[in-house]
Amino acid sequence: MTYFEGKVVIVTGASTGIGRATAELFAQRGAKVAITGRNAESLEKTRQLCEKAAGGSADKVHVVIADVTKEEDTKRIIAETVNKFGQLDVLVNNAGAGTKPGYNDSHFTQPLEVFDYVMNLNARSLIALDQEAIPHLKKTKGNIVNVSSIGAFKAFPALAYYCMAKAAIDQLNRVLAIDLAKEGIRVNNINPGPVRTEFTTAMGMPDASQDWMEENIVKPNCPLGRSATPEEMATVIAFLANNDEARFVTGQLLVADGGTSISSPPLPTQAS
Ligand code: NDP
Repeated sequence: MTYFEGKVVIVTGASTGIGRATAELFAQRGAKVAITGRNAESLEKTRQLCEKAAGGSADKVHVVIADVTKEEDTKRIIAETVNKFGQLDVLVNNAGAGTKPGYNDSHFTQPLEVFDYVMNLNARSLIALDQEAIPHLKKTKGNIVNVSSIGAFKAFPALAYYCMAKAAIDQLNRVLAIDLAKEGIRVNNINPGPVRTEFTTAMGMPDASQDWMEENIVKPNCPLGRSATPEEMATVIAFLANNDEARFVTGQLLVADGGTSISSPPLPTQAS
């Protein structure tokens, strides 16, 4: 019996990437999972993976097609999950993107409608979901894990709005952790570095650009020499969500970036 047996976990942005791998891992570890996103076809693939990971139990996976930038959808994600599974133990706020669909970046010269969308998706939606989830998390002494980014404290020039949104949720994490500690609810962030997912595709970049970035940006700047896999992020999220293993961890930013954010260029004598 694993810790997550019988627990109910919501993973937003579960149709691809980090969210999909996270939902699959929770399902494998015995949780009932509610998976959400806008793309029904991709979510169906995640549903099948979760069902397989859960040993074929179809009744342990619930799909909610939803856009987290819409408040009626965020309310529905929480309500449907609790109606289906009777409780909520973990909310993983993972849905996010670097820009608004149709725009290639969130450079500070982009129209304010891009700012509004990026802030809504990456920050405001968390508040909407948390407000609905907290009454249920109080009952289970559950917890929240937010997927932030090293962009919250490193400057990515063409992603000003995105970096601002992630910085906002890092601070929300700290404040909420204090506010909710008396309720027995923990709140933590994971701050990934580069992870191979659909993230750049969603910004309109061709698939081939991922290989270029891996060689020219990721490898030279990451001490561990590569991007992470979504599965490597999922295990960190599952650790933070585990009320046994991480019971004394709250309000923290767990940076999972292969050392990217702490490294400096080598001295000339060390450069090879
Ligand atoms: P993906 O693009 O693979 O996944 C993003 C997920 O978010 C998808 O499931 C997508 O589903 C969902 N999503 C996007 N917009 C909306 C919306 N309006 N409503 C509901 N769901 C939405 O990228 P990642 O897996 O990489 O991203 C997951 C998280 O990780 C994000 O918060 C991202 O900022 C963060 N991150 C990623 C890094 C990376 O290098 N990949 C680095 C640091 C942080 P759908 O399209 O079906 O709606």
